[in-house]
Amino acid sequence: MKLKGRTALVTGSSRGIGRAVALALAEEGADVAVNYVSSEAGARDVVDHVRKMGRKAVLAQADVSDYPDTFRMAQDVLREFGHVDILVNNAGINSDTTFSKMNHAAWRKVLGTNLDGVFNCTKVFIDQMLGQNYGRVVNMTSVIGQIGNFGQANYAASKAGVAAFTKSLAKELAGRGVTVNAIAPGFIETEMVAAIPEKVKERLLAQIPLKRFGTAEEVARAVVYIVSSDGDYITGAELSINGGLLM
Ligand code: NAP
Repeated sequence: MKLKGRTALVTGSSRGIGRAVALALAEEGADVAVNYVSSEAGARDVVDHVRKMGRKAVLAQADVSDYPDTFRMAQDVLREFGHVDILVNNAGINSDTTFSKMNHAAWRKVLGTNLDGVFNCTKVFIDQMLGQNYGRVVNMTSVIGQIGNFGQANYAASKAGVAAFTKSLAKELAGRGVTVNAIAPGFIETEMVAAIPEKVKERLLAQIPLKRFGTAEEVARAVVYIVSSDGDYITGAELSINGGLLM
């Protein structure tokens, strides 16, 4: 087991990619705090799965776009686990519409969760990571942040912001035991992709050299690689997992 004795918090791990990441980390031996905003049943299910593997698991409800709420959650998790070694900033939303129809609320909501959320969660754990001279931060970006997309100006801007944040923080924290990386998935089979109309999905598949969408487990395995000792020499990277969509 590659992560025995490690503790992790995965934001947005009640479903989708975050759920797969939480389970993959636990499979490798980590104790896991399962963050969610409203899907308590989904988060409890993940906690149960992790406990069945013999690891510790805690529910960590918080709206990551809300700094005081995120701070409160971090205090609870640190009290429970004593320390957090691995932070996976995965929680994310979209609110798609063309820019001419995009109102300020849709802009703020997506930036608030996807970009402010990464700031908030990293801020509330980083001092403790620096104090122990060890930390692994992984931020979930997106191919959309790399290439842009029709109807996703808010989402693309948030993910490009997270990518730039990742590189800046990686530079600041290199040499202090903390690595900071990003993973940029392409189209992955979760509720987010299930919501795409069938015709659009067909057009997307035609553009993906591997001719299929990815799975949450394929993204989760990359997180394990980066946060285990296998990834010790990786920092400031943005790893693309997109079936060749961008090359
Ligand atoms: P998903 O299935 O829609 O799940 C989103 C998760 O984020 C849920 O656990 C949700 O919690 C949580 N969440 C949303 N807002 C939150 C908030 N304010 N505070 C705390 N948690 C919050 O999404 P996904 O497809 O797994 O995507 C996960 C990440 O990968 C996102 O950052 C997304 O942008 C990125 N990504 C996804 C794809 C894809 O194709 N699926 C591609 C590229 C990047 P609740 O269940 O409580 O609502």
